[in-house]
Amino acid sequence: MPKQIMAHCPFCKKHTTQNVERVRRGQASSLTHIVRQKFRANGIGNRGKFSKVPGGDKPTKRLNLRYRCTACKKAHNRAGFRAGKFDLIEG
Ligand SMILES: [Zn+2]
Repeated sequence: MPKQIMAHCPFCKKHTTQNVERVRRGQASSLTHIVRQKFRANGIGNRGKFSKVPGGDKPTKRLNLRYRCTACKKAHNRAGFRAGKFDLIEG
């Protein structure tokens, strides 16, 4: 995928050149709901959904991209899509 694409900007309300940025997952914060749930599950007895289900990485990841308009410098997001391999190239 090229780093720059022509796409519709919701702020300019027209097609502009936009830089594509990949959005990375931020630092996991320690007091999210799921962390507290896991903390509570550290004990004896049935741990519910934390007891089985191996999990692990899926072969493809959902990509979240941010499109930053070069005209107004504002960014908008589009729904992510899944791909096994993704590269941003110059041009
Ligand atoms: Zn714009």
